[in-house]
Amino acid sequence: MVVTFSDLDDTLFESSRKCQEVAGHKVAAVLPSGEVGAYSTPQQQALISLLNNSYFIPVTGRRTESLSRIQVDFNSYKITSHGAIILNSDNVLHPSWRLVLDEEEPQWCDRMFRLKSEVEQYVKQNGLELRVRVISDNGYACYVCVKGEPLHLRKLQTGVGTINSAGFNVHCNNRNLAYMPPYASKRRAVTFLKQILKTEIKEPITFIGLGDSLSDTDFLSVCDFQIIPSNSQIAETLK
Ligand SMILES: [Mg+2]
Repeated sequence: MVVTFSDLDDTLFESSRKCQEVAGHKVAAVLPSGEVGAYSTPQQQALISLLNNSYFIPVTGRRTESLSRIQVDFNSYKITSHGAIILNSDNVLHPSWRLVLDEEEPQWCDRMFRLKSEVEQYVKQNGLELRVRVISDNGYACYVCVKGEPLHLRKLQTGVGTINSAGFNVHCNNRNLAYMPPYASKRRAVTFLKQILKTEIKEPITFIGLGDSLSDTDFLSVCDFQIIPSNSQIAETLK
């Protein structure tokens, strides 16, 4: 049995702003407005059809609501909000994972909103054009998201010495920066589901991981095989 854990953005599809030429491309995600948000290239489409024969589990920073606008069929569990949310195949929060969130989220929720205010203040004082939000999913505060121009994000990262983000995992790729509490971990979520799948599937399992960002390497390393796009943050570091 093959189980695939796959990141979505820049792995299975590209945001429409990155696609100059869309001949042969397929719509992969729509925005809340109904406009096209992302396309799969012909090569990505071929990879998706290959993996569709396995247990195909998305592992994404997107919220659950945004996953519902993805036009790829996922037939099993789903991991959203950078690992903070683990859903059953019927899109209901996994009951054992809910216990983890009930225990841990209250310890981090206030800190996330404080962190958001501090980052917002820094952004304002330094004239940066960045949007700061606490991402909530299924009623839980999941992570602090900062979005905007890569140059402004870099300025934020190099100058935030006064902001206390101790205990948070920080990852930045292109136009997104995320401050993640310990329960928002793709690796932790994948490890959790691996245990469950091993008890459910009574035969040897091969785990395949796909991802493009350095923040994906943690979960890729707990899979048997790792697939990375050649044009990706991870591939950059291998050159
Ligand atoms: Mg990605």
